[in-house]
Amino acid sequence: MKHGRHLTIVGAGLAGSLLAVLLAKRGHAVDLFERYPDPRRNKIPAGRSINLALAERGRAALKHANLLEQVESFALPMAGRMLHDEAGQTRLQRYGQRDDEVIWSVHRGQLNQTLLEAADAHGVNIHFDRRLSEADFDGNRLRFLDSDEQTHPHDFELVIGCDGAGSALRQAMQAVTELGVREQPLGHGYLELSIPPDANSGFRMDPKALHIWPRGGFMMIALPNPDGSFTCTLFLDNDGEPGFKQLQEPAAMRAFLERQFPDAVDLMPDLDRELAEHPVGFLGTLYVDAWTMDDKAVLLGDAAHAIVPFHGQGMNAAFEDTVALDRLLAEHDDRAHALKVFQDERKPNADAIAAMALDNYLEMRDRVRDPRFHLQKALEWELEKRLPDQFIPRYAMVMFHPEIPYSEALARGERQAALLQRLTEGHDSLETISLEAASREAQARLASA
Ligand SMILES: Cc1cc2nc3c(=O)[nH]c(=O)nc-3n(C[C@H](O)[C@H](O)[C@H](O)COP(=O)(O)OP(=O)(O)OC[C@H]3O[C@@H](n4cnc5c(N)ncnc54)[C@H](O)[C@@H]3O)c2cc1C
Repeated sequence: MKHGRHLTIVGAGLAGSLLAVLLAKRGHAVDLFERYPDPRRNKIPAGRSINLALAERGRAALKHANLLEQVESFALPMAGRMLHDEAGQTRLQRYGQRDDEVIWSVHRGQLNQTLLEAADAHGVNIHFDRRLSEADFDGNRLRFLDSDEQTHPHDFELVIGCDGAGSALRQAMQAVTELGVREQPLGHGYLELSIPPDANSGFRMDPKALHIWPRGGFMMIALPNPDGSFTCTLFLDNDGEPGFKQLQEPAAMRAFLERQFPDAVDLMPDLDRELAEHPVGFLGTLYVDAWTMDDKAVLLGDAAHAIVPFHGQGMNAAFEDTVALDRLLAEHDDRAHALKVFQDERKPNADAIAAMALDNYLEMRDRVRDPRFHLQKALEWELEKRLPDQFIPRYAMVMFHPEIPYSEALARGERQAALLQRLTEGHDSLETISLEAASREAQARLASA
């Protein structure tokens, strides 16, 4: 695309503000519209989740935008999962065998503000308090409403929808062309709770881990924040037993939490207030077949592919989208073609991470309790050490290897899982498995796949 184009982005969340930075750096004139007021001046509720796990894919995108160092200054490294059992016993399961295989806890609000600052600094024209309400694609005109319901028209050349899972741009596109939109509710929701810092502003649990209380059909997790607190998220069935509906009375929920997570509840002095005030969030997967409309509109991030949060990849995937779109718009003068290539490249990867995120819920809440799971993890590491070019654990491919597309991680992961299943059959420990023979078999099977 030639320099100096006029590009319009709807949604100044995580993807929209990063994309604005990338496009402005290319020399495009960028208008960025956000329905809420400027979060740098107003206290905005955190919304989706207070903190997020940032992994290598997201970090690669931030590095590309020259923003990684800044984000690292407030990101906390987590080296593994700290598993808490019912008796309060803990066990650390590292994410990878190398010291740099860590994921990072970042505060959503702080990350968003950093990206907005960068967008401002690169000359992006940011319009806060502007909610997209209508799109006239024939007339190339958008209409935004402010909080007083005043209308603000805006003429566009290309409009990019980064307005999240409930995307207004997607709805406007869908009104004139069939996009093939399917939403698959998970049937489980989430509730955020917190563990505040101790009296000395220190952490009450190990801050170098993502804490998990796996309980089979449900779980709670906790990520550290730089102020010494942890944000905990309970994931639970909506209608089942136990379930959010059944436990809607705060006293019933408290009794349930005390039974299931006694060590965590001991660290939650604000629990009663939080149970009375915090809403239960919706979780589901959004599939959209068509992300583009000619050369006029394109969707990315959650607007095109919202996923369940169990692989900690929604934002990471959205950040990958921004880098891909920026690159393809620069590579192709034919904009409709660039958008089509973008969709062709990203859609299979979005579908793959959606599937792996659903699968990871089962792993986090249930499989981590099975000794066989830990045996397979141990064997994975041995094979990775012996065959670094052929065998990389699926979790590591997703979290630490941005050069491997999600779709490839899914396919390789399936072959590896079948192999691990076979190699650990009838074994309780690594000691009885011949690692030489296992690695020969892995080499033969993975090479011939
Ligand atoms: C509980 C939970 C935990 C998660 N944890 C992780 C994690 O650990 N790691 C990870 O990578 N991902 C995680 N995610 C996913 C992540 O939050 C999303 O994938 C990410 O926010 C997507 O970014 P986005 O910019 O596409 O959408 P959003 O962040 O939703 O941003 C959309 C923006 O558009 C604005 N907007 C909406 N409608 C309009 C309109 N009509 N007009 C103008 N503006 C509008 C919104 O106000 C918002 O600013 C989690 C999600 C949830 C729910």
